[in-house]
Amino acid sequence: MEELILILEDFYASACKDMIEAQLKPRGIKDVRVLEAILGVPRHLFVSKDNLARAYSDMALDIGMGQTISQPYMVAVMTELLEIGETSRVLEIGTGSGYQTAILAELAMEVYSIERIDYHSETAAKRLKELGYENVSIKTGDGTLGWPEKAPFDRILITAAAPDVPVPLMEQLADDGILVSPVGERHTQQLWKVVKSGGKVLKEFLFPCVFVPLIGQHGWAR
Ligand code: SAH
Repeated sequence: MEELILILEDFYASACKDMIEAQLKPRGIKDVRVLEAILGVPRHLFVSKDNLARAYSDMALDIGMGQTISQPYMVAVMTELLEIGETSRVLEIGTGSGYQTAILAELAMEVYSIERIDYHSETAAKRLKELGYENVSIKTGDGTLGWPEKAPFDRILITAAAPDVPVPLMEQLADDGILVSPVGERHTQQLWKVVKSGGKVLKEFLFPCVFVPLIGQHGWAR
């Protein structure tokens, strides 16, 4: 049995390496800290049994309750855009499976993550605790309101599609902070990188993407 577990662990570790070599590096992901963080997180532990064979495939996967774990490349690109340092305090909206949360936790000092669906926030919190992440706090709620008690945040990542960047999140972003979010219509969006600097806000529109909707007071109504 133990031998079988070791063989399986080897199998998944090499699938993760292959994913990095085939899907991430050729598309331009080059930040060594980001690549190492991705290598350090066993993606197969964040997907359902039905999706185990596809855990390291080039696609988003269903995680239940109509939600998805993002495609590995999308996770990598958003993480790289955030330029997370060892002392960064990061807020994530849309915990989902907790996979992206784990990658943020590998890079940052503290990660706060908000998820509106109980089932996902509870499952992700349990999973991340079992994996030994001690710098992560997860709560259930409407992430479009942010987490005012813990603000300001150096980095904010929204992993669901917003009609516009929620005002409370812009307010809770520290000066010199970076926010990354898909913004746009219900079924297709652009990935935005927003930088706050000296009271000014700079927006960069990167490329088209498709995310599940951000539902809340400063998002979609349902
Ligand atoms: N980062 C996740 C992807 C989750 S998909 C992962 O790696 O698995 C986006 C998630 O955002 C869904 O779980 C959805 O329930 C959640 N979500 C949508 N609107 C939200 C809101 N207002 N506040 C918090 N979470 C929200």
